[in-house]
Amino acid sequence: MRKPMLAGNWKMNKTRDEAIQFELAVADKLPKSVDCVVCAPAIILRDLVKRAPEGLKIGAQNMHEKESGAFTGEISPVMLKDVGVEYVIIGHSERRTYYNETDQKVNEKIKKALEFGLKPIVCVGETLEEREGNKTEAVLETQVTKALEGVEISNTEDVIIAYEPIWAIGTGKNADQNTAEEACSYIRGIVEKVQSKKVADEIRILYGGSVKVNNIKDYMQMPNVDGGLVGGASLKADDFVELCNKAI
Ligand code: PEP
Repeated sequence: MRKPMLAGNWKMNKTRDEAIQFELAVADKLPKSVDCVVCAPAIILRDLVKRAPEGLKIGAQNMHEKESGAFTGEISPVMLKDVGVEYVIIGHSERRTYYNETDQKVNEKIKKALEFGLKPIVCVGETLEEREGNKTEAVLETQVTKALEGVEISNTEDVIIAYEPIWAIGTGKNADQNTAEEACSYIRGIVEKVQSKKVADEIRILYGGSVKVNNIKDYMQMPNVDGGLVGGASLKADDFVELCNKAI
C-alpha cells in the first residue's frame, strides 16, 4: 500500500507571518492517512519547521548539489537538514527552464539529498510541443532514467516522483485523469526497468499541474497516481486542508 501524499509548492510566495498564519489555520484539520507537505521558500523554513502542527511536513523547493563552497546565494543539503526539513523538490520545471537545471544536476541533487537524509520529490514532465509531437514517453524515459541513474533507493518512501506536464502548470489546463494515469503508469514502468519491481510497486508517483479542490479526487481514483503536487491551490489554508482531506 502506498501512502497518499499531498505536497504544496508555494513557489516564491508568502512572508514569514503569512506562513505562520497558514500553519495555525491548518492545525488539527489534516488527515493522518495522507502525507501532507508544504514546500516553502528557504528563508522561512526554520520558522515553519519549529511551529509545524502535527501532520504537516515541511519541504524545500530546491537545494544545491554540493555540501558547501563558493556558490553565492545557494542553499546546501547540510543547511536544509540543519533546519529540520524533511522533503526537497528537485528538478521542478521552473528550475529546469529558468535556472538551467539539467538531468545531470537533477541526478546529483537526488543523490546528495538522500545522502543527507532528505526526501526528494523529483519532477518530470513534457512541454506542450513535446506532447503534440508524440514525444511524451521519450521525454519521460530520458528524465526518469537519468534522474535515477546510480541512485540507491533503500527506503521506497524516501523518493517521490511527480509527473508535471509543463503545459498544465499554472495554466488552469490540467491533464485529465486518464492522461495523468497513463503517464504515471509509464513512469512506474521505467522505474521497474532502471530500479526493480519492488521499487516500482512501492514508490509514490504524484500528478501536478492545475490540481484544485474540485479535481483532486479524479486523480486519486487512478491506480498509479498516489497524490498531488499542487502550486497555486496550496496557498490558501482552507483549500490545502480540503485537498489533503480529499487525497485519501
Ligand atoms: C507546481 O508548481 O508544481 C504546480 C503544479 O503548480 P499549479 O498547481 O499552480 O499548476
